[in-house]
Amino acid sequence: RRRCLAIARAGVDPPRAVAAPPATAAAELRLRNWAIDSWRQYDALQQPVYPDAEEHRRAVEEIKRMPPLVFAGECRTLQAKLAQAAAGEAFVLQGGDCAEAFADLNANRIRDTYRVLLQMSVVLTFGGGMPVVKMGRMAGQFAKPRSAPTETIDGVELPSYRGDIINGAAFDAKSRVPDPWRLLKAYNHCASTLNLLRGFSSGGYAALHRVTEWSLDFMRATENGHAYIDLAERVKEAITFMVACGLDLNTPLMKETDFFTCHEALLLDYEEALTREDSTTSLAYDTSSHFLWCGERTRNLDGAHVEFLRGVANPIGVKVSNKAEPSELVSLIATLNPLNTPGRIAVVTRMGADKLKKHLPAFISAVKNSGQVVTWICDPMHGNTESVNGFKTRRFENIQKEVETFFDVHETMGSTPGGIHLEMTGDNVTECMGGGAQISEDDLNSRYHTHCDPRLNAEQALELAFYAASRLRS
Ligand code: PEP
Ligand code: MN
Repeated sequence: RRRCLAIARAGVDPPRAVAAPPATAAAELRLRNWAIDSWRQYDALQQPVYPDAEEHRRAVEEIKRMPPLVFAGECRTLQAKLAQAAAGEAFVLQGGDCAEAFADLNANRIRDTYRVLLQMSVVLTFGGGMPVVKMGRMAGQFAKPRSAPTETIDGVELPSYRGDIINGAAFDAKSRVPDPWRLLKAYNHCASTLNLLRGFSSGGYAALHRVTEWSLDFMRATENGHAYIDLAERVKEAITFMVACGLDLNTPLMKETDFFTCHEALLLDYEEALTREDSTTSLAYDTSSHFLWCGERTRNLDGAHVEFLRGVANPIGVKVSNKAEPSELVSLIATLNPLNTPGRIAVVTRMGADKLKKHLPAFISAVKNSGQVVTWICDPMHGNTESVNGFKTRRFENIQKEVETFFDVHETMGSTPGGIHLEMTGDNVTECMGGGAQISEDDLNSRYHTHCDPRLNAEQALELAFYAASRLRS
C-alpha cells in the first residue's frame, strides 16, 4: 500500500502501476544470473589498458582486502530519502568536482565545498520548504569518461587523461600511461576525504545553529553572499524562538546531518573490488560510495556497466541526453530496477535547456506509462559546455535556463522535479561565465583550476540554489 501511495504521489496512475510491474519471476531469474564479475562477459567501454597485467592484478587484490568505505545500511537510508524525493517530499542536491584530483586533497578544500553544499541545502530547505538530500560528488569521483581516446596538442598525440585514478593529467607520455597503483592511492584519498566529511556531519560543524557561520569569507561582499546571510539570520531567529519554546539543540536532528557520497561507476575493476556482500541482507553493495551512476557514454543496455550496476543494491543513477530514445530509457530502468523499488533509480537528464524542453516530455510519458517510479534529477552542466578563448566553459544563464526548463516541464507533465546535479566547488574559481559576479570571457584565465569540466564557483552555486528554492516554493 505504501508503494501505491508513493507511486500515486509521483504522478503515476496507481492501478496500472500495480497491475503491470515488470515480471518479478523474470527479474529474479536475471538477478540469479548476476555475479560480481559477470560484467566481464560484456563489452566494457572506457576501461584503461594497463601495461603490466600482473601488477594490475596485485593492485586490485590489495583493494579487495581493504575495508568498505560506506555501509549498506547508509545506502538503504539514502534510498529511502530518494524515494521521498521521487514522491515530491524531499529534494536532492548533488554537487562537487567534475574530477577530483590527488593534488587537491586538503582539509580546507573539502570543508569549503562541503559548506557551500550546506549553505545551498539551507537555502533549499528554508526557502523551498523541502528537506534536502545532500550528496557530494566527492570521495570517489576520480575516473573520467572521454569522448576521444587520444588528445593532440601542437601536433603531439598522447592518450587522453582519464582521471587521477588511472593516469596523470600532465601532457607527457609518461604521465599518460595507466598506473595500477593509482587505484590504491585513490582508495586512500577516498578514505581520508570520507573521514573528514563524516566528522563535519556528525562532529558539530553542521549543527544547524551554526548556520550563520558557514559563509565563506570571500562571499560576504557578494550579492548572493548577502542574500545567504539574510536568510541564515532568519533561520537563526527561528531556532532561537524554538529553543525558547523548549527545543533541545543537543538532539541529533539539530546537531548532525546526513551527507552521502556519489560518483560515476566507470572503472569496473575498482568498483568490483569494493563490492561486498551485506551481512544483513546478503545483497551485494558497492561500498566505494553510497550512490553510483552510469554515465551517458556507458549506459548501453548490452554493456558491462549496466550489467554490473543491475546487481548492486545501492541506489543508482542513469545519465541521459537527447541521444536516448524514451523506450531505451524504459528498458534501462526495467533492467536496473526490475522490482520497481522507489528510490532505487534516479534519472539524471543532461541535454541543454532547448533540447530538454523538446525531449523531456516524451521521457516522462514513457516512464509514467510503464508504471516505473524514478527520481528525476536535472544535471544542467553537461549539455551546456562550450569552448571560449580556448577554455572549456559554461554560461550561468544557460545552466539556470536548463533548471528552469526542468521545473517547467515537470509542472506541465504533472511529474516531480526531484533534484539537481551540479559541478561546483567552494573555491573562488572563474570557470563558468556569468552569474551575479558577472565572470566574463576575459576573466576565465584568472582562476581556471578544474582538472576536467568547468565548475560553478561558490557564489554561482548559491545563486542557483536560490533560484531552485524559488521554484520549489511556487
Ligand atoms: C560527469 O558527470 O562528469 C559526466 C561525464 O557526465 P555524463 O556522463 O552525463 O557526460
Ligand atoms: Mn563533468
